[in-house]
Amino acid sequence: ALKKLVAGNWKMHGTGADLAEVTSISLAAETAACDVALCLPATLVERGVRAAPGFAIGGQDCHAADKGAHTGDISAAMLKDAGATLTIVGHSERREAHGETDADVRAKAEAALAAGLQVILCIGESLEIREAGQAVNVVSAQVDASLPASSENLAIAYEPIWAIGTGKIPSMDDIAEMHGALRQRLVAAYGDAGNLVRILYGGSVKGSNAAEIFAVPNVDGALVGGASLKAADFLPIIAAAH
Ligand code: 13P
Repeated sequence: ALKKLVAGNWKMHGTGADLAEVTSISLAAETAACDVALCLPATLVERGVRAAPGFAIGGQDCHAADKGAHTGDISAAMLKDAGATLTIVGHSERREAHGETDADVRAKAEAALAAGLQVILCIGESLEIREAGQAVNVVSAQVDASLPASSENLAIAYEPIWAIGTGKIPSMDDIAEMHGALRQRLVAAYGDAGNLVRILYGGSVKGSNAAEIFAVPNVDGALVGGASLKAADFLPIIAAAH
């Protein structure tokens, strides 16, 4: 089995007052059996790195271009310059609210890898697609169209949109089916190297359900939203990953 990665996604939460949580989480990470990372709002990346030296701090998105006339955007090189070691790309909240396509997401992943960042590339289906029995087909097509050319420094995160922030999660059988299908897509794209790409699950992961999710085949970690904001909620998830 691959070493698990438990990554927190703070989304649009957190100011300087929350840096103590970053420090607490980074200290727990030092003795964890898994890799741990926190993807902070861009305004907190540099301060997060200072509050937790040596700990993996990431961004939540980057622009596909190095620089240019893109008001409000941030490049992968800028994240790297701020001390980030990774970034999320293609989160469903960006695909939905910012109209990001698979091609956009692939371009962002390529830019982040070229800048020397680790990438967590997100995919996932809506409730409508799940209920129509099309989840595996749609997510497989999404991943095929979003993958960068190289699998090095890449992780993907399966996040069913209907499970994000809702307290609902798929059955363990459904997670196993999806992660198995994603593993096949990764091997189709990268050959044997596809077996080394971590496939994270995301959507309402909590201390109370983490252990059973981590026991599912091809679940190589988690991408955690709400339960990553406080060390008290996040540490039990980290402890469940081994
Ligand atoms: P929640 O853990 O809050 O459901 O969020 C999941 C998510 O979107 C992580 O990227």
